[in-house]
Parts: sequence; C-alpha cells; structure tokens
Amino acid sequence: MNDLPKDLTSQELLQQIGRLKKEREAVILAHNYQPPEIQDLADFTGDSLELSMIAAKTPAKVIVFCGVQFMGETAAILSPDKTVLLPVLEAGCTLADYATAEQLREAKKKYPNAIVVTYVNSSAEVKAETDICCTSANAIQIVESIEGNRPILFVSDYNLGHYAAKKTGKNIILWNGCCPTHALLSPFAIAKAKKKWPEAQVIMHPECKPETLELADFVGSTSGMLKYAKSQPAGASFIVGTEVGLLHRLQKENPDKTFHPASDYLICPMMKMTTLKNVKDSLEKMQYVVKVPAEIRLKAKAAVDAMLQYTASLKITTK
Ligand code: SF4
Repeated sequence: MNDLPKDLTSQELLQQIGRLKKEREAVILAHNYQPPEIQDLADFTGDSLELSMIAAKTPAKVIVFCGVQFMGETAAILSPDKTVLLPVLEAGCTLADYATAEQLREAKKKYPNAIVVTYVNSSAEVKAETDICCTSANAIQIVESIEGNRPILFVSDYNLGHYAAKKTGKNIILWNGCCPTHALLSPFAIAKAKKKWPEAQVIMHPECKPETLELADFVGSTSGMLKYAKSQPAGASFIVGTEVGLLHRLQKENPDKTFHPASDYLICPMMKMTTLKNVKDSLEKMQYVVKVPAEIRLKAKAAVDAMLQYTASLKITTK
C-alpha cells in the first residue's frame, strides 16, 4: 500500500484557498505577469503600484501578494498595519538587484547636486535613499517635474531612464541596470514577428532596449498597454513586447482582438514561481511575512508618497 500523501488537484487547492482566505480575512493580489491560474484566482490583478495602492485601501487584514519581493515590500511600506505575505520567498527581481543602498550612497557622493529618481522596482533600502520614486506609467511626468537642468540620477533601469531622457530632454545620469527579460527582446525578434503578423500593431514596455523601442507603435506600462488595447477597434491585433503573462489579461479583457507574444522567450522566471500550492501554503502557514524595518520604511515611504502626491496632482492614474 502506498502511504505517500497524494497531490491535491487544482480544484481542491482552489477550495482550500477560498476557505483559508475567509478564515484569515485575506485578499489575494496578483501581478499582471503571474501565471494565468494565479491571475484567475486573485481578487485583483494589476501592476505593482496599482496593487500596492489596493493593498493600502483594503479592509482585509492579510494581503497575499503574488509577485516578487519589491512588490511585497512596497505594499508593506504603504500598509504597516497589515500582514503582507509573499508566497515564494525566493521570488526576487533581477532589475531591483542591480542597485544596493551602498552603491546608491556612493553615487550620491559622486553627483551631490543630483536628485534621485528611483524606479519602484527596487528594494526598500534603495527607496530609503531616494528623493522620489516612479513607475513605468509615470516616469516621464516625474522626470519632467524636476525643475530646471538639475541632474537626475535615475535608478536602476537604464532603458526606462534612457526612454525618459529621450522623451523629456532632461539631464539624466543613467544607472547600469536592466530587466533581463525585457532586455532580451531584440529588433530582430520584432522584425520576425512583424513578418509573421504584418497587420498587427507593436506595443512595448519601456524596459525594452532603445533600439527595440524604435520599432514600437505604442510604448507604455502594463496598465498603459491594457488601456491602449481597449481603445483600439474590434478585430485589431497586437504584437506584445513585454513579459508573456500580460497576454492572459489582454486576451481575457479583449476577446474581440488578437494578441501575439513578440517572442516566446519573454518569461520572467521569478514571476512564474508562484503556484496554487504555495498560495495555499502561504495562507495556511502565514508565510512569508514581508517585514521592512521602521526606520527604512519611513524614509522609503516618503519617496513613494512624493510620487503618489505628484501623480495625484496631475490626475495621472496607473490605469
Ligand atoms: S520582469 Fe523584470 S522587472 Fe519584472 S520582476 Fe521580472 S526581472 Fe524584475
């Protein structure tokens, strides 16, 4: 007789997640790049900032953040009174790892007059050394808001910083970091996709390389791409230059349109670590609690709040 415990089916896992969610008074948030089954089970899907803002407003006591570490940290920074859980402890972000607080402190010594604008894809410690954060949805407006020709130290995505510099003409000092998933997308891959689907519009995330972005019909954040696709007529088709997880939501919300991945290789391994089983384990065992030390949290929050206040004054939403 085989005494090994049998694996639960997806249906059983979903039932257990539903029961545990009620018991814990929890809400489940999933980033747009999460696997389809995780997006489908979540109460809310969105980009990292949308989800952190939902986390801050929800009456739920527990937030299960299906995403990567910096996203859980941002939710914890904005919601210190709630328990934020990251189902996979090892789910980091390679782009965020390109900048440490120590490196940023050194760079600030090198450029003492620079204002530090940091992409939200960064650790809490790096945010704590920052003047104002930005997202891919508001980077251009945040950079534009810096008065005069004051140098801007843009941390840590080179490609997003380059794109913001090109769009605004501002004096930006670029950081040597990138998202390896988006940096992988080449002009050659776009040319190949365009040959295959000549009628399709090319939509792309600004974390892609400058020479690849040149080939885009529309450049925007994940929320920007969702909004743009919705605005296009029925029957439209798109080549999507971002992590393949977004295609699930694009197709679900636009059943009358067609979406093709710009490349089958645009997969973030960190985003794909989350499974139904570890969401269930996360709720059952209350793991892994995201903690940000109070001193770091307050400084990081000031940089995130500066961004939120500015975008609110411009009425920019992340949607
Ligand atoms: S897609 Fe890139 S930026 Fe997003 S979590 Fe993965 S490594 Fe980080």
